[in-house]
Amino acid sequence: MSVDDKELLEPFKLSKFRGFQRQIIDRTLGGKHSLVIMPTGGGKSLCYQAPAVHWFRQFQSDESGGSSFCPLTIILSPLIAVMKDQVDSLNAKGIPATFINSSLDRSQRLARYESIKQGDFSMLYVTPERFRKPDFVECLSGRTIKLLAVDEAHCISQWGHDFRPDYTRVADFRRVLGNPTTIALTATATPEVQQDIAIQLGLSGIGASADQCEMFHEGIDRPNLELIVSEVWGVDEKVECIKTSLTKWISLSIAAESPQGSAIIYFTLIRSLEAFSEILRKEGIRHVVYHGDLSRHYRKQIQDDFMAGRSPLVLATNAFGMGVDKSNIRLVIHADIPNSLESYYQEIGRAGRDGLPSECRLLYDADDLATQMEFIRWSNPDADFYQRLHHHLSHDLDRLRAFGMDWLRLQLCGKNKHDRRLETALGILERYGVIDQSEDLSMVEVLDDSLPTLLSDSTHLAAKLLNDQKKLYALVQYVQCDQDRQAFLRQYFEAD
Ligand code: ADP
Ligand code: MG
Repeated sequence: MSVDDKELLEPFKLSKFRGFQRQIIDRTLGGKHSLVIMPTGGGKSLCYQAPAVHWFRQFQSDESGGSSFCPLTIILSPLIAVMKDQVDSLNAKGIPATFINSSLDRSQRLARYESIKQGDFSMLYVTPERFRKPDFVECLSGRTIKLLAVDEAHCISQWGHDFRPDYTRVADFRRVLGNPTTIALTATATPEVQQDIAIQLGLSGIGASADQCEMFHEGIDRPNLELIVSEVWGVDEKVECIKTSLTKWISLSIAAESPQGSAIIYFTLIRSLEAFSEILRKEGIRHVVYHGDLSRHYRKQIQDDFMAGRSPLVLATNAFGMGVDKSNIRLVIHADIPNSLESYYQEIGRAGRDGLPSECRLLYDADDLATQMEFIRWSNPDADFYQRLHHHLSHDLDRLRAFGMDWLRLQLCGKNKHDRRLETALGILERYGVIDQSEDLSMVEVLDDSLPTLLSDSTHLAAKLLNDQKKLYALVQYVQCDQDRQAFLRQYFEAD
């Protein structure tokens, strides 16, 4: 089947394909599976949207009656925040796309299920959690699913950096949907994660045959990013180093008589972020702050101001990032060492999307390692912790309701305020669908009485902890490497 470039590009008002886009689209149109690894902003969406639009147009022009239902592409995405933007932008181009997620109220949701049943829409964005709902699965039963796109596919892997348990059921969803052609897309996947993605999709591995997924790896080189590591001792040196980078950035802005793009400074801890904010404030350097303790409403406003260029400098924790797709971020400083090369690469990947030179500076203070090690322990509660938590959730709900989360924390973590194991474990139970947490995280509802087997498997949990520690170790090796840093990253993400 040959579809010309123009026909595929025209609905998107684009003039030519980038990188492997055309090959990927051809493979998809030909009914074969792909794994696409392309940097954020590289144009992954087109790889599934162009085929979907092609089928939609074919369906529209096929007046001879065939099916009265448009072939459907389902896009699995963990990011509720970006679904609406994508759908709005497709709708503006006259393409019937929609989403279903928790932002809809019951009547809106039911109305959407009904239109899907009636054969509407050529693209449907959902989170993998949606497949838990029988009425959702039911509304698809009469539809032909031409393509399943698994966006942010690294979430499928236990070994990736943002594991989402429902993604591990994608092979089941595929079966329910009649094993449609599948395309998995991500910006970062180590060779281990690449294999895992193929297996979790229910395919036999990476390769070109019909039951495998062919990998299209754009490479991870970002030649316009200047990768710098500055070794520092103590807070004062850190502050000096950040000020030097900021001064350079600000003086470039003054020379250009306009803000030279934007800058992000990442911190691990909210309290060091706040301390540093105070220092900058005293120096008269205007900035905004973004972290998980701020209200959702305020965070949204900060992010909007940053995206619009009204607040060019933001001090943030790693909570800042989802959906930050701004072309002219000129400077990304990591004031503290992040927890893995995966997170680091993803965070610096936000710089220089316009291809212009940008600075990425990592400050390495060996003392910060201890903080990260502690974080890693807290993000890996052991089987005993899960069992104790589970026991309280099944036996002490009345007391929990009466005394609140602080009571539960005291039972499980004693008086250590910094211990984050409870938050982690609750977050993970929520991802597994065992509990539902209230918006402000002050209360939980138990949906399912059983503890998922993986969370009571101490061998598995120990392996996960070790894996996380190895990732931090890889970052330390990156800090210490005296070869080309781009080459180091290539080796880490691409080696087979
Ligand atoms: P990703 O999902 O890989 O992060 P997106 O699919 O969101 O990236 O695309 C990022 C931007 O690149 C979008 O604005 C999109 O319109 C643009 N884009 C995609 N493909 C092309 C192309 N072939 N030519 C020009 N712009 C493109
Ligand atoms: Mg994307």
